[in-house]
Amino acid sequence: MNTSPNILLIYTGGTIGMIKNFETGALIAFNFDELLLKIPELKQLDCIINTISFEEPIDSSDMNVDRWKEVGDMINKNYEDYDGFVVLHGSDTMSYTASAISFMFENLGKPIIFTGSQLPIGDLRTDAKENLITAVQIAALQEKGRPVITEVGLYFEYKLLRANRTTKVNAEHFEAFQSLNYPCLIESGVHLKVNKTFLRSINRRKKMVYHTHFDNDIVVIKMFPGINESILRSIFSLDTIKGVIIETYGAGNTTTQKWFIEVLTGLIKKGIPVVNVTQCIGGSVEMGKYNTSVALKKTGVISGKDITTEAAIAKLMYLLGENLPLKVLKTIYETSLRGEMSEN
Ligand code: ASP
Repeated sequence: MNTSPNILLIYTGGTIGMIKNFETGALIAFNFDELLLKIPELKQLDCIINTISFEEPIDSSDMNVDRWKEVGDMINKNYEDYDGFVVLHGSDTMSYTASAISFMFENLGKPIIFTGSQLPIGDLRTDAKENLITAVQIAALQEKGRPVITEVGLYFEYKLLRANRTTKVNAEHFEAFQSLNYPCLIESGVHLKVNKTFLRSINRRKKMVYHTHFDNDIVVIKMFPGINESILRSIFSLDTIKGVIIETYGAGNTTTQKWFIEVLTGLIKKGIPVVNVTQCIGGSVEMGKYNTSVALKKTGVISGKDITTEAAIAKLMYLLGENLPLKVLKTIYETSLRGEMSEN
């Protein structure tokens, strides 16, 4: 009997599988079989790899809620038959999709590893081969017959990071992602160094629950000096808005102008959650630390603590999809569900 782990490799698109269009010179996604031909090394790995692909591979800039669900469905339908999953995805929105997938799978008991590359797999200097091969190895990693990773990870340039803690920080460097608020889970050198204390542990008695409802009737507003009252008021007058994320300065600060606080208070009074997330890629929102966030706290703004904007968006869409009363949503939002924010 073959006991090698079974890995499902899911291809959604992204630079990893792109090729130059001769007419325009722009990169476009190409067929998955061609991509696999370029990595014969995969056959040498001690695991059984099956593949499945988006019908039309995409640049990840075209990701959306329906496609998150498509990826989720591919995993969910095959959940029992595989030991681990690797998702090939464009790096531009990888952190968003991977965060969303982390909320979709409650009590996840298997690895879901996202990876991609900055250079196409056919390029001589590509980073795709190492990323893909090690991502598969990590998905296949087992100890006493159980998967080592039981969460959604993002593997890029020798590091496995908790996916819902990541942000793409560089459009050129191979080290494209960072996770400033949570340590690296695995470092790849001569050996794979697993930082066990930081891994998410699971309760094996709890069954995996698959969630698919994301409500994308939300808006993200980035604070900037000079933010305009009438523009903001007209955006917020849309009655389709169900949730708001404010990307604030530093530890969660905004302008103290009366109209601004009034606008946010108006939203909350209508039952619309307003989440405070910092623009900084490291550190946490701490409402009340500075005078410039005292009013936000008083009015009932939700603290995003040290969550990334990517995870904050996915979490808000996920919780709005669960149809919770505002008070309950606030309490749950401020609680870590999948390790996406620090506990206190
Ligand atoms: N534009 C590409 C994408 O996100 C970039 C990449 O894959 O690195 O699909």
